[in-house]
Amino acid sequence: MIDKENETVIADFQQRLLDWFAANQRPLPWRRTYTPYHVWISEIMGQQTQIERVAVYFERWIALFPDIATVAAAPEQEILKAWEGLGYYSRARNIQRAARQLLATGQGAIPANQQQLLALPGVGPYTAAAILSIAFNLPYPLLDANVERLFARLGDIDSPLKQGSTKKRLASMAEALLYRDDPRSFNQALMELGALVCTPKKPNCGLCPVQAYCQAFRADTVDIRPLPAARQQRVDIIMACGIIRHESLFFIQQRLPDDIWGGLWEFPGGRLKEEELPIQAAAREIEEETGWQVSDLTPFTTVVHHYTRYRVTLHGFFCTLPAPLTEPELTAATRYAWVSLSHLSDFPFPSGHRQLVAALQGH
Ligand code: SF4
Repeated sequence: MIDKENETVIADFQQRLLDWFAANQRPLPWRRTYTPYHVWISEIMGQQTQIERVAVYFERWIALFPDIATVAAAPEQEILKAWEGLGYYSRARNIQRAARQLLATGQGAIPANQQQLLALPGVGPYTAAAILSIAFNLPYPLLDANVERLFARLGDIDSPLKQGSTKKRLASMAEALLYRDDPRSFNQALMELGALVCTPKKPNCGLCPVQAYCQAFRADTVDIRPLPAARQQRVDIIMACGIIRHESLFFIQQRLPDDIWGGLWEFPGGRLKEEELPIQAAAREIEEETGWQVSDLTPFTTVVHHYTRYRVTLHGFFCTLPAPLTEPELTAATRYAWVSLSHLSDFPFPSGHRQLVAALQGH
């Protein structure tokens, strides 16, 4: 097994991988300089998000917030707007909290120290190791999903990836194989090989620089490595909301800070109760969240979006407010705004509501 081999074999494995990376790495924007701030942002964005998508958001983010000080000073709404579409908004809020913490503690820069990194909001052991190895070229092994799959094939590991003993074995492989003279390149080479060649489906073994060391290739078990995880059941969520227009302005409200979409804006609404129709749910939710009893509900459009194992179907209804216009009694929001159609895009919305805004603007 490659992880138990002698030093010469490991050195050859490392060299093949490094040569391949030098010739095949993608020109990702944070790879231009490996500035610690850039690596940190790319790593936080890369949690739960594909790298090509991260690259687009990263460039926009760096143009808006070129350093820690600009992140710390920005209004939260600007931070959330720059993150809009990436999902998991707590990541963006954590970046800002971490930036403020770094300034408040006088550090002012991303630390090259594991304990100090782990003290930052949103930085766990993996992200800390990624920053230490990629930004500072320090010898910390990295195991992301791409590397786990690659190692499971290299070692022809026939136990589930999530199993404790498998995790230990993968960790010891990562430690044994790490190229300590250039962990930055080596770790990225492993991840890049997993992303581009040793892909989840149909890995391109013909182009693989470490095929000679791959036990699964030798045993013809590539297609069944790693062992498939038990499929998570999809959960369907049905929601309804009201698009309330008064003269030429639309009513939106800002969600309470402590949920996953806290701080984002939305049309008032929520989940259907058992045996409730979407139109009934929209009317009920609006009354619960604003105190308003709306009338004339008419279907506008239905949008669908996915996050993790959830599929959310959101029904949007136009509705009319009773005259005279009164102040809303907010129960699910911190504040509200009446906004013109063209200005709706200035506010950060979660995915389903953002689709409704786009549909309204194309209406
Ligand atoms: S030979 Fe194929 S399965 Fe083995 S590491 Fe390379 S790409 Fe992955």
